[in-house]
Amino acid sequence: MLLVQKYGGSSVGSPERIRAVAKRVANARRRGHDLVVVVSAMGDTTDDLTTLASLVTGRERPQDEHPREMDMLLTAGERIAAALLTMAIREQGFEARSFTGSQAAIITDTNHTAARIREVKAGRVREALDDGCIAIVAGFQGVSTEREITTLGRGGSDTTAVALAAALKADACEIYTDVDGVYTADPRRVPGARVIRTLTHAEMMEMAANGAQVMHGRAVDIGDRFGVDIRVLSSFVDDDAADEGAPRGTLITHRTQAMEELVLTGVAPKGGQAKLVLRGLAPGMRTQTVLLEALAENGVSVDMVNESFGGDGRMQIQLTVPEEAASRAEEVLRAALEPLGGGEIAAQTGLSRIALVGNGMTGRPGVYAKAYRALLDAGVEVQGVSTSSISITVLVPAERETEAVQALHGAFRLEQTGAADGVAER
Ligand code: ASP
Ligand code: MG
Repeated sequence: MLLVQKYGGSSVGSPERIRAVAKRVANARRRGHDLVVVVSAMGDTTDDLTTLASLVTGRERPQDEHPREMDMLLTAGERIAAALLTMAIREQGFEARSFTGSQAAIITDTNHTAARIREVKAGRVREALDDGCIAIVAGFQGVSTEREITTLGRGGSDTTAVALAAALKADACEIYTDVDGVYTADPRRVPGARVIRTLTHAEMMEMAANGAQVMHGRAVDIGDRFGVDIRVLSSFVDDDAADEGAPRGTLITHRTQAMEELVLTGVAPKGGQAKLVLRGLAPGMRTQTVLLEALAENGVSVDMVNESFGGDGRMQIQLTVPEEAASRAEEVLRAALEPLGGGEIAAQTGLSRIALVGNGMTGRPGVYAKAYRALLDAGVEVQGVSTSSISITVLVPAERETEAVQALHGAFRLEQTGAADGVAER
């Protein structure tokens, strides 16, 4: 069986941790598995290197001026971790070889600091496996079609791991981190929050897009497209002590959903939202289109969009944008409104969006009603709402975020295993 494992920065944050990971890898090898191991940079290395670049250049965002050199700099972090882990595994008596993203032939586009993977060739990784070696691959990096060193954006090692698992048709892909898996909500804020046993890729992407930090959304997307099951689990629990065969962590999978029960998966909050309300607008598609185009041209990403009509026949539009883009968005909209006959704009910052995620809500009556009842009873006022086929998202004042998450988590009884999981347990 071919296993791809990925270890995050905290999992390899010290010499002791690297030795512990080496032991875990060696154990998997002893069980007879072929292994490709992807590593992140140790601890806060990536942040520290970024700070160093800021100090040297005097720039807050050195990547804007020096994207190529930032990639040269940051890829060193993963390279260090890969070499050290390889030595530690060899000290355990197993053959291992490390590779940079470039050596592993992870081919990306030319977009420095946020490159996208075009193709994973992994020829040398396959060779190492054929030689009976454990292959250690530096995460978060690749080589561009112009043969430049690139990085995949923050958190990109998850993407490296899932892309390798897809390319090598691995039997399993394990993402090791410092938490026990994907939680129904943040356990520090929601009593009763628990590890989700199984959920679908779509649900995980929705959770990640809504602020769940545990996995990189892009990695889950690749897993979805290539049918890679991904298990998220902690590298800090002693497997030897764990119950053999007991389900561990969270499995992200395509497997069939539970048939009937109302299956909701989790609640994910994301702060830093602003709402813009535009009133007294000339009615018609043209108005919205021109406004949305103006925002797009100015690089403002719009989240929720709602429109309504007043008794006076004028139109009202409400939209949400990231808080840091609010004043720019307001300016852009003001300018765009002028030739359209004008209108008023009111901006409100300090909002959070709370997503209730779950495959089971499609076509099921009462989900909205239950969510609103829970929020009303908790005294949380909803300022906006949007839906997808697997989520309901409400906009609430940021200072009520925790109460809102708790209320929804409680109302849908997400603290209970089984019925709440997105996929039938097996
Ligand atoms: N080291 C990189 C980061 O901190 C990539 C990763 O850890 O996935 O973002
Ligand atoms: Mg990470």
